[in-house]
Amino acid sequence: MSAFSQKRTLARTAAIIKLFLIFVYDTILLKLVTEEIIMTIKTLLFGTVLLFAGAAISTYFTTNPIKISFQTTYAQESERSVTGLSPVLALPERDAYYPGTEDLGPDEMRVTACGTGMPNARPKQAAACFLVELGNGDKFIFDIGTGSMERLSGLAIPFDYLDKVFIGHLHSDHFGDLDALWVGGVISNRQRPLRIWGPSGTEAKYGTAYAVEHMKEMLLWDAASRLGNVNTQGQQLEVTEFDYRGINEVIYDENGVVVRSFPAIHALDGPVSFTLEWNGLKFAYSSDTYPNKWWMEYATGADIAIHESFLPPILLVKKQKWPVRDALNVGTQVHTSPSMFGKVMSLTQPRLAVAYHFFNDFDTAPFVESQIRTTYGGPLALAVDYMVFNITKDDIRVRMAVINEDVWPLPSIPEKLSADPNKRVGFSQFLIDGREVFTDVIKKIYDETNEEFGTDINPPD
Ligand SMILES: [Zn+2]
Ligand SMILES: [Zn+2]
Repeated sequence: MSAFSQKRTLARTAAIIKLFLIFVYDTILLKLVTEEIIMTIKTLLFGTVLLFAGAAISTYFTTNPIKISFQTTYAQESERSVTGLSPVLALPERDAYYPGTEDLGPDEMRVTACGTGMPNARPKQAAACFLVELGNGDKFIFDIGTGSMERLSGLAIPFDYLDKVFIGHLHSDHFGDLDALWVGGVISNRQRPLRIWGPSGTEAKYGTAYAVEHMKEMLLWDAASRLGNVNTQGQQLEVTEFDYRGINEVIYDENGVVVRSFPAIHALDGPVSFTLEWNGLKFAYSSDTYPNKWWMEYATGADIAIHESFLPPILLVKKQKWPVRDALNVGTQVHTSPSMFGKVMSLTQPRLAVAYHFFNDFDTAPFVESQIRTTYGGPLALAVDYMVFNITKDDIRVRMAVINEDVWPLPSIPEKLSADPNKRVGFSQFLIDGREVFTDVIKKIYDETNEEFGTDINPPD
């Protein structure tokens, strides 16, 4: 077929289709299909759409009843406040950590500074203590310096879970509140033994076991006085003393958590530093140390590296009123000065470097930081008490905890049974003869208390 005849055939076919469409339009749509039929079709279609939409909406509200209350955003609430109505929803994002109000993610580590100061006490900063909480439910205390128990109590954690303490060395600013955790824990419902890990010394008398044994000796009267008066299950102490010369030695390995120790160089033989590893996250804690080769090797690449950064000698003289010679010696030979700290962090490259062990004030922090910045340019936090670090593989969030100062102890985890009165040591006849017994007043207290709790306990004769 020629090209011309092909074109002619196409033109004819197009003309026939055109005529057919005109016929359909004129005859069926305009003449045969009435207005009523069109309206009926439209109504049917509209009704069907409404039916489906209604079914979809009712299914949504049946299966997602709670979601409805979350549909109002804080922004919308704010708009309402502009119109005269106050917002009633909690802020979706709070910049502070309120203990006991946040879940810890299964892969998350939370570190709370419970003591960041010095051996000389001050209200603002307790002595060294860091709490590590893991998403698997485990909690670990690293150092428990004087004053730090108050901070730990502010975190509203049942004392049964504050049962593992790792002591870096036996300076009072690193274990001075061990007695407060031990005895205070008993009164605060701890029913589990308190477990302590700490280093040996060059002689037995410089080791952790000796120190804890003598703490118990010091508190013999305290322990005896409580027998039979309160449940003393939490008085049990378990001490693990390990060799301070152990190099990256595993001293704890439970539930996928591994704690290692390596030597620190500080004041006398004995001090150690620690790492804790769990779930691919690494926490490194120097306790006190002069920069040393073991920290360089075993703390390298930590997700969070907490290292002492002592007051620079100039501040030890000006603020602490020390002689220059002692300030230089203690500030740079016994401890790590801020510019030395910076050098340590430049060489070990943690995801976050945390400096502690100095009085962190408006007039000291800028100087300390400027000293650190002469040798280190990486991520840095200058710790104060209640600074909180939430660490995951993707993020490290630094906030401050807001504490309820009226905090009370939480209940024990195992059921707390009443004390056994038969265990009481009791008084001498000398004191028994000195008692003024207000029988009526005491009877009333017993009656009121029994009524309140549905018990039937009689006062002693
Ligand atoms: Zn020390
Ligand atoms: Zn110290």
